[in-house]
Amino acid sequence: MTSDATSAAPSKPEALAEELVYDRIVDALIDKRLRPGERLNEAKLASAFKTPRSRVRRALNRLTAERLVRFEMHRGAFVSLPSVKEAYDIFETRLHIEGAVARIACERIDAEGIATLRRHLALEHQVFEEHQPSVNRISGDFHLMLAELTGNDELIAIVRPIIRRFCIIQSLYERSTGVLCLTHEHQTLVDLIEKRDAEGAAASMMEHCRHIFYSLDLSERRRAEANIYDIDIDDPLG
Ligand SMILES: [Zn+2]
Repeated sequence: MTSDATSAAPSKPEALAEELVYDRIVDALIDKRLRPGERLNEAKLASAFKTPRSRVRRALNRLTAERLVRFEMHRGAFVSLPSVKEAYDIFETRLHIEGAVARIACERIDAEGIATLRRHLALEHQVFEEHQPSVNRISGDFHLMLAELTGNDELIAIVRPIIRRFCIIQSLYERSTGVLCLTHEHQTLVDLIEKRDAEGAAASMMEHCRHIFYSLDLSERRRAEANIYDIDIDDPLG
């Protein structure tokens, strides 16, 4: 098949560069270097990435489609600022989807997958003990890794944006900077998956999701307090 010279689709290097911009912004959201409600200045992001603004715009469009970012007319792009209702809706969805992930994992994950999860648990433990700033991202990665190890691409495509939106909810409504994903609960879950206890694993996963969600301060007051970022910042990704 010959390439279509009139196609608007980006070339492979273009697409890879756009992917890099997209991934860096997602990492900054998860690591809380970008906060809920914060303005995403297209020109400054382009300068920070040393990349054309058109590429940044395409990455921001993708993030908008996934509802991690919102556009406001004449004002530009902002990190989303989920309402309390959105937070409950996303939690309820995550709760049941992750329960299904745990069940499917019991059927699909092989010994190598279990070993991968155990290596990740060791890493979680290490970054927690060392108080590393990446601790939230590493513990959140556990959930995406579990979905990926099911090998079910449809499930992964559903789980990924829900987990990322949930990270923004945690960032917005958390009571302190404490770790909300408890490593010992991940450990219990992996033990149940290894035993192929599908119902036990699903219940354990759902209980874990409830612990995370109900540790948050889910109030409009908290949302209003957190919304102090309607300003430009100099180096959001530094
Ligand atoms: Zn967790």
